[in-house]
Amino acid sequence: MSRIAFVGLGNMGGPMAANLVKAGHDVWGFDLSEASRNAARAHGVNAASTLPQAVLNADCIITMLPKGQHVLAVWSDLASVIPEGTLLIDCSTVDVESARKAHALGSAMGCLSLDAPVSGGTTGAEAGTLTFMVGGSESAFASGKAILEAMGRKIVHCGGDGAGQAAKICNNMILGISMIGVCEAFGLAEKLGLSHQALFDVASTSSGQCWSLTTYCPVPGPVPTSPANNDYRPGFATALMLKDLLLSQEAAQQSGAATPLGAHAADLYAQFEAAGHGGEDFSAIIRMLQEIPRE
Ligand code: NAD
Repeated sequence: MSRIAFVGLGNMGGPMAANLVKAGHDVWGFDLSEASRNAARAHGVNAASTLPQAVLNADCIITMLPKGQHVLAVWSDLASVIPEGTLLIDCSTVDVESARKAHALGSAMGCLSLDAPVSGGTTGAEAGTLTFMVGGSESAFASGKAILEAMGRKIVHCGGDGAGQAAKICNNMILGISMIGVCEAFGLAEKLGLSHQALFDVASTSSGQCWSLTTYCPVPGPVPTSPANNDYRPGFATALMLKDLLLSQEAAQQSGAATPLGAHAADLYAQFEAAGHGGEDFSAIIRMLQEIPRE
């Protein structure tokens, strides 16, 4: 059993902290929101009213926060209050540069650190079946793996500092692009008089096969569990897809990688969000794509 401090008890962090409690850890939590602290208490988390109180005597501190700026602010605040040797793990989705800055802060504190973003959404967080994409040293990974296993099913060590975030944004760039491709194929099929089911039956067992088609099929019918059958309730919200696509474009610009389709996907998701659809599942973009008039 470890004493673990969990900072950021929101939609993802709340259930992740609850799974650490279930695994027998002594979990101390902190969130700026009182409602999140109270919800965590109901799952056996010792919710503290200040950050220093939550991290006192912790062997490991986990952050699950909205953006890089929040992670860097919290990790900076830890410097004066935690002893050397504490393991620091950030599970938020942030830009690669912030992840590397966070590792540098950890190293300056004499701590081992990991960037460990997740995939699997709130359902995976609740079920403890998240996939963790982990960046950091071998020794940091060896120290943190068992703790991550209490919250996830697959833990992949992707490489050094920032490699977890790099894997996450590359994966989600594929996802954003592939969803638009699948939506366009259904739009074209309709115009050609081909049924949704016929396209699905062929493409799902042919070279067009991909997760956006077989798990999150953007038209109702072929995959009964996809958000399209539930009025596009998320699932994976458009706002989060846009966030990840913008992170991929920021990284592409900084590293000089060419990602023209990633850039176009980010533009299309930005338009969809600006039209008021940020809370809908990202597969709902099919509605906007079908309305775009041909030139
Ligand atoms: P959320 O907004 O529900 O939770 C974030 C929590 O952080 C909030 O409760 C907020 O009060 C708290 N917070 C913000 N600043 C803080 C601070 N300085 N100190 C303490 N608490 C603070 O967001 P979420 O959906 O839980 O997402 C968290 C991270 O996980 C994000 O980076 C997101 O991109 C990523 N993610 C989310 C999903 C998803 O499906 N929701 C999936 C994969 C990854």
